[in-house]
Parts: sequence; structure tokens; C-alpha cells
Amino acid sequence: MNEGKATINYNKDFLNNLSSKLPVFYNPLMKINRDFTILLLKSYYDIYNKKIDILDCMSATGIRSIRIIKEIPQIINKIYINDIKKEAIENIKENLRINNIEIGENILLENQDCRSLLLRNKYDYIDIDPFGSPIGFVELTPQALRNNGILGVTATDISALSGSKSKAAYRKYNIIGIKTDFYLEFGLRALIKYVILEGLKYYIGLKPIFGYYYKHHYRVFFIKNNKSNTLNYLSENIKYINYCKNCGYKSFEEETCKICGNKMIKLGPIYAGNMYDEEFLKKINENKNIIDLDKDEKKIMDRIISCDSKIDLPYYYDIRKISSFYKKDLPKLEYILDKNNGCRTHFSDYGIKTLNYPQI
Ligand code: SAM
Repeated sequence: MNEGKATINYNKDFLNNLSSKLPVFYNPLMKINRDFTILLLKSYYDIYNKKIDILDCMSATGIRSIRIIKEIPQIINKIYINDIKKEAIENIKENLRINNIEIGENILLENQDCRSLLLRNKYDYIDIDPFGSPIGFVELTPQALRNNGILGVTATDISALSGSKSKAAYRKYNIIGIKTDFYLEFGLRALIKYVILEGLKYYIGLKPIFGYYYKHHYRVFFIKNNKSNTLNYLSENIKYINYCKNCGYKSFEEETCKICGNKMIKLGPIYAGNMYDEEFLKKINENKNIIDLDKDEKKIMDRIISCDSKIDLPYYYDIRKISSFYKKDLPKLEYILDKNNGCRTHFSDYGIKTLNYPQI
């Protein structure tokens, strides 16, 4: 199979039944996750102009590392390709061979519990891409990252993070959550909150620079920066948010909904600060042609650039919720956007960002 400039040998029968129980795991839908990793690392290289040490903690087929090696070789000082499973290591060896990549001083293959690699060395880029939740791995990353290093984290336990499963949200992430009309953004910001708090314990700032949701996964990148104004900014932006179940109004201060008078419920805490770094976003956009982005990837990029990064509020409104509150048929999206000076978030095709509660 081909993805980007990599070719991998993967049993096609596995694709019909993707699960963590497979001897080796490869999900073609996660191409977007790897594409954005390449774009982000290339942008990092452009901005910082230095070669980096990379830890691909959970490599499975090795596709991510192979793509980094073939598509952006200029950024690599060292790359550790790791997986805990023997079967994965055998597959990685074969895939390296197919791609004419030799293991050596700069390209290292490891068969470890990645937590031991996080304790052993320091890295400029750490990639955490587990099955489900990154809990148990993220905890070790703040100290394993060099200053100005980048952390990339994937999570697929959307129902816990987004609050749709309230008990799991509280148990795993100490979040009070319910299914809201902006649950997908709430979940990404709950994940960011969790990662930030793991850093702040050690006076380490992990500042989000780029994040997105797509088809059952979250992906977010952080840069390590221990300056006191960064630490203060991060901790000041871990916030509770009040939510009106009746009409979907949100507020940080009001406890009674100013739209319909209902008592609001307190959800969170989540990270309510900026999720995108302007310089990185600009570079990622400039670099986008190095990857063959598909329609969905382009849509996500466009909406992040034109909307999610522009409106400084940690939520969107679902127009289905708004129109049902007003007891009106769903109006044309362009009409609502025009009327409310709004824009379309990448989180949902029904989601709009506006500074005030939308009128229809
Ligand atoms: N990063 C891969 C990609 O882009 O295709 C997919 C990774 S897959 C979702 C998760 C991988 O984590 C599996 O291959 C599994 O064997 C590995 N894994 C699970 N626990 C691990 C651990 N403690 N240390 C290292 N690898 C682990």
C-alpha cells in the first residue's frame, strides 16, 4: 500500500476489521494525522532551522517514520522508530527494506515499552499515537522534551473527552461533561487541558499550536516553552464554562441564561485559550503543497484558517440546536452566517462560530 512517499506491506484483510487486537495496525483514515505531522515538522524546521531528534513512540507499521524519512529528510538528526509488539517490529523491518531505508546511527529501531524511551533520552519531537487514550504516556513527555520541542498527541476516546460519557469524562480526565451542542470542541479542549496540566506540575509550559478533530480522533501539537508568561497564560486559561441545556447559550460568568432564563450548568474545566499559533499556521499553509491533501483535509485547513483560529471563543453553536430553540426550520447556512457575522468551524458541518448568541 502507498501513502505519501511511503510504501508499506500490509495485510489488506486486516483493513476490514481494524482493531487493537491485530498483530500490526494501520488505519488509512489516519493519513490526515500523518499528513499534518509532516506539515507541522516541516514548518518547525523552517521556523527554527535545526535538525531534530524524533521519537515515534508507537510506530506499528512504521509508516509515520518512513514518511518523515522520505518526505522531509532534511529535518532529521536522529529518529527512533519504536513499538512494543514483536510483530510490529518485523513489519517495520520489512517496510524499511521496501523503502530502501537502512537502520544506522541516525535511524534507530527499538522494541520497547515507549515509556522506557521517554525516561531514557530527551527529544525535540515526541509522537504519541496510541489506541484510545494517551493517558499513561503523556505524563512522561514534559520532561522528555527539550526546550522548544514539539509534542504530538492523538486521542480516539472522543466520548469520554467530549463529555458524551460523563462518568468516563470525570474518571479519566477530571472533567464535568455532558453531550452539548459543541461537544466536539469541548473534547479537544479537554484533551489540551489534560496535557497542559501534566506540564504545569513541573513548571513546564506545553502550549498548543495546532489541533483538529476528524472522524473519531483528535490530534494536537504543543510546543514546550517554560517562560513565566506562557505558564501564566496556560494556567489562566483552564476554565469552567456555563452551558444552557435549553438553548445552547454559553458563558464564563453568567449562571442564569440571558437568552431563555434557565439555570446554566457548569462544565469543564477545559482549555479556553488560543489553540493555534499564527506563525505555525502561516507556515503550514505555505507548506501544504508538499503533501497531496484530499478534499476533507483542505476543508479542515481552510476552516481552521478562516474561522477556528480567528474567533477567540472556545466553542461553536450547532445550528440545529439554535433553530429548534427558536422553533424554526433549519435556515440556509449562508443566511445565518450573514446575519450573525459568523464563520464555519471545522468541528462540524452544522457548527458556526459567532461572537454573540446567533439570531435566525
Ligand atoms: N502510529 C501508527 C501509525 O501512524 O500508523 C499507529 C499506532 S497504533 C494506533 C498504536 C501502536 O501502539 C500499536 O502498534 C501498539 O503495538 C503500540 N503500543 C501500545 N502500547 C505501547 C507501549 N507501551 N509502548 C510502545 N508501543 C505501544
